[in-house]
Amino acid sequence: MRTALVTGAASGIGKAIAIQLAQSGYKVLAVDQHVIAEAELTHSKSIETATIDLSDFKACRALVKDFGAGIDVLVNNAGFQHVCAIEDFPLATWQKMQDVMVTAPFVLTQAVWPAMKAKGWGRIINIASVHGLVASLYKSSYITAKHGLIGLTKTLALEGGEHGITANAICPGYVRTPLVESQIADQARLLNIPEEQVISDVMLKNAAIKRLLSADEIAAMALYLCTDAAGCVTGSSWTIDQGWTAQ
Ligand code: NAD
Repeated sequence: MRTALVTGAASGIGKAIAIQLAQSGYKVLAVDQHVIAEAELTHSKSIETATIDLSDFKACRALVKDFGAGIDVLVNNAGFQHVCAIEDFPLATWQKMQDVMVTAPFVLTQAVWPAMKAKGWGRIINIASVHGLVASLYKSSYITAKHGLIGLTKTLALEGGEHGITANAICPGYVRTPLVESQIADQARLLNIPEEQVISDVMLKNAAIKRLLSADEIAAMALYLCTDAAGCVTGSSWTIDQGWTAQ
């Protein structure tokens, strides 16, 4: 049985990926800073949970070591947003975002790499964002982190190639999850407009398809990247962005 470690699995996209991997026969280690309600996970028998803050890099290493079995699929998904103009952006928040969304994926990759190399098979899937490719106002740390995560993905692809390890990034546009619900509220406050107008005029302004994505649509793309058919797909950034970056 193949194993998968999914970060940020208590909510949204991570939860959907953990469930779809379990449904596809993976033994899943679902990790989050919040306690994961196992009852919510339909395939809980094949899902183990762990509670850590990913900015605690020692805890990241211990997590992989304590799991025992080598991890075959690493999904670096945990993330959070902070919307704030440059001049007021708190340095501590900036740093925490880099720790969780760039350094933790690197530390976890280091931890799972030897077992993947030994097996000659591995999948690293980094949940970046369309904001790993383009910028938007007031999200300086998030955009920097997601661009960095795509750079890390490309390097892992190069170093993993000869060992059967692929690395890819997924770059979603807006997905309806708790993270986005809170951004809608933040932007409405910042721009002083109603929340519905934030969705139509701000979030989906550049989108060809005017609907928010579902977490299951992102999970389905992650599942494809785990297949043997995707064995030569590596170093790529997969956009699933309602056509946002087509223009
Ligand atoms: P979410 O808020 O629903 O879930 C994120 C999870 O990450 C939460 O459960 C949270 O507790 C966990 N997390 C955050 N910081 C952590 C830490 N320090 N340690 C451990 N866990 C931590 O968000 P989501 O929308 O499902 O986002 C998942 C990923 O997808 C994020 O990386 C996000 O940047 C990315 N993304 C989301 C969207 C979107 O529109 N929702 C679009 C593009 C990219």
